[in-house]
Order: sequence, then C-alpha cells, then structure tokens
Amino acid sequence: MNLPADLKVSVRRDVDLSKYCTMRIGGPARFFAEPRTEDELVELVQFAREEAVPFFILGKGSNVVFADEGYAGLVITLIHFNDQDIRINPTTHEVAASSGVHLYRLALACRDAGLSGTEFLSGIPGTVGGAVMMNAGFSRFAGQMNEIGDLVREIRVLDEAGQRQTLERSRLDFSYRHSGLEGKIILEAVLQLVRRDSAAVDAEIRANFDYRNEEQDLKHPSSGSIFKNPPKPLPSAGRLIDGLGLKETREGGMLVSPRHANYFINAGHATCEDLSRLIKRIQKTVFNEKGILLEPEVRIIRA
Ligand SMILES: Cc1cc2nc3c(=O)[nH]c(=O)nc-3n(C[C@H](O)[C@H](O)[C@H](O)COP(=O)(O)OP(=O)(O)OC[C@H]3O[C@@H](n4cnc5c(N)ncnc54)[C@H](O)[C@@H]3O)c2cc1C
Repeated sequence: MNLPADLKVSVRRDVDLSKYCTMRIGGPARFFAEPRTEDELVELVQFAREEAVPFFILGKGSNVVFADEGYAGLVITLIHFNDQDIRINPTTHEVAASSGVHLYRLALACRDAGLSGTEFLSGIPGTVGGAVMMNAGFSRFAGQMNEIGDLVREIRVLDEAGQRQTLERSRLDFSYRHSGLEGKIILEAVLQLVRRDSAAVDAEIRANFDYRNEEQDLKHPSSGSIFKNPPKPLPSAGRLIDGLGLKETREGGMLVSPRHANYFINAGHATCEDLSRLIKRIQKTVFNEKGILLEPEVRIIRA
C-alpha cells in the first residue's frame, strides 16, 4: 500500500517494536508513526480508518508486548505527543497533562509547584495516557492502593468516531487496572491535587523510589507485574508464585525474576512465545495447586 505523500507526520515501515517496549521483545510494525501534535494524531487516525488499516496506540510500552510476527497495521506511539505539556492551575490545584507526558516528569512538575497526589506515579515507567488507560496504581504500604483514577477530574479523548470529547469524572468508571476507556484515544487528563510543601512531596517521591529499588527487579527488561493481584483476601500474585517456589522458572529466554515473583524478565533473546509459554505454565501451576486463575496484567498484542 502506498502512503499519502501529504501526511504531516512521517510514517515509517517495518520498525522493530522491541525497541519501543520495556520487555524488549516483539517483531516489526508494518507502519509506525510518532505524532507530536493533536493535528498529526488526528490525521493519522483518519488515514488508518479510511484505508481500513488496523492501528494501535502505544505509550511507553511498559505494559505491552507485541507478537514475534509483529503488528500488521499502524503503531502510533505517543511518547513525543505534547510531551512537554503540563499546565498547573495554582488556584484550583488542577493539573492538566497531555497523554504523552512521562509520569516521572509529571510528578516532578507537581512537586515543584508544591502539589501532592502524583508522588506514587513517579516510579512507574509510563506515560499519562497509558497510566489512565490502565488505571495505574502503586503504594509501598500493604493494604493501601493509590490509583491515578482517583485523581482524575476529567479527560479529553478522541472517541471511536474520531470526535474530540471531554469526559467528566461522573462518566468514568475506574476500577483495579481498568478504566472503561477501551477504543478511545486519551489526549489529556486533568488531575485534582492538593497543596503540600515541596520538600515533603520530594521526600515521598524518594521513599517510593527507595522502596521500588529494594523490592522490585529494575535491572532487567520487564513489563512490571505480569499478573493482576487476585481480589482480597487472597494473597498477591507475587506471593502465590513465590510460595510455590516458582522463582527462576524459565521458558527459553524468559524467566520469573529471582527478586520479584510477579516480574518476568527478559534474560536475553526472549521471544513473545517464551513469554506466552511462561505465563501459561505459571497460571497452570498456581491453578492446580491453589485453585486461583491468575489474570495477566501485561497486554500481548497480536495482529
Ligand atoms: C519496571 C516496571 C514497573 C511498573 N510498575 C507499575 C506499578 O507500580 N503500577 C502499575 O500500575 N503499573 C506498573 N507498571 C506497568 C506500566 O508501567 C503501567 O501500566 C503504565 O501506566 C503503562 O503506561 P505506558 O505509557 O507504558 O502504556 P503502554 O504500555 O504503552 O500501553 C498500555 C495500554 O494503554 C493503551 N494506551 C497507552 N496510551 C494511550 C492513550 N493515550 N490513549 C489510549 N490508550 C492508550 C495501550 O494501547 C495499551 O493498551 C510497571 C512497568 C514496569 C516495566
């Protein structure tokens, strides 16, 4: 298929998707684009719809893995999409962040403005759009969970018909790792924060990083937690896997991390098939031994 010559944004062919996913696996994208502005994004989506080319919206790729065969459509990464665009209202303490903004940058901007609420996001290696879609969450305290959905006042999206829409909080339906936004493209989120001394916010960010460095496997390529945690009072996925002695279980180049049993790591040259086999093997063992079916949090994209 020929690409229209007048597209504002360049579309590349056969781009290696492993470079755009933190697990560092996956084949090539047939088409690949990195829009920086809303106009560029809208044009790309229109082109894909008109030509009936399937498309996939990618943030930082920290919760996504593509199949070894790659993606037979257009991958649109938003890592450069308005990635500097953070607007803070010092009176209402609302923060509007474009979906391409990295969570770490967002947390630091809020800290500098003396606003609290996003500290827990600072160590999650994703974008605002990916975090809202996944309702990303973290807490270093057992029994507590902070989720980005709790902060959201409204979001701006491109809906399934390609129309811009603002969705207010009352129309949103966040739950554990679920936003109800499938099919929509998140353009921007407005978060409600509260005033707090910058030094206290900074201390909280540092404490979260210290905890993550201590508890998680951050030295190897991974997608963070592979499975969602089963509902309380069941043990966490990590505890279940660890309790069955499954750390370091291996399929090809994919390994259950020796540090954190819910992290699978690419120990070198792993494939998506290795990951799929390891997921099934761990699911089967946990189900046979404990009667609990672990549900993947990582999204494996095949097309
Ligand atoms: C080391 C490590 C630690 C992690 N720790 C945590 C943690 O503590 N808590 C947690 O919740 N997660 C964690 N994760 C998982 C991941 O970082 C989060 O889910 C993150 O929010 C994903 O953001 P992303 O930009 O990478 O999204 P991606 O992985 O690129 O995409 C995730 C999903 O969102 C969709 N998407 C992305 N952007 C948009 C958009 N603008 N509009 C519509 N859809 C979009 C994609 O299509 C995909 O379905 C961790 C991952 C790693 C590698």
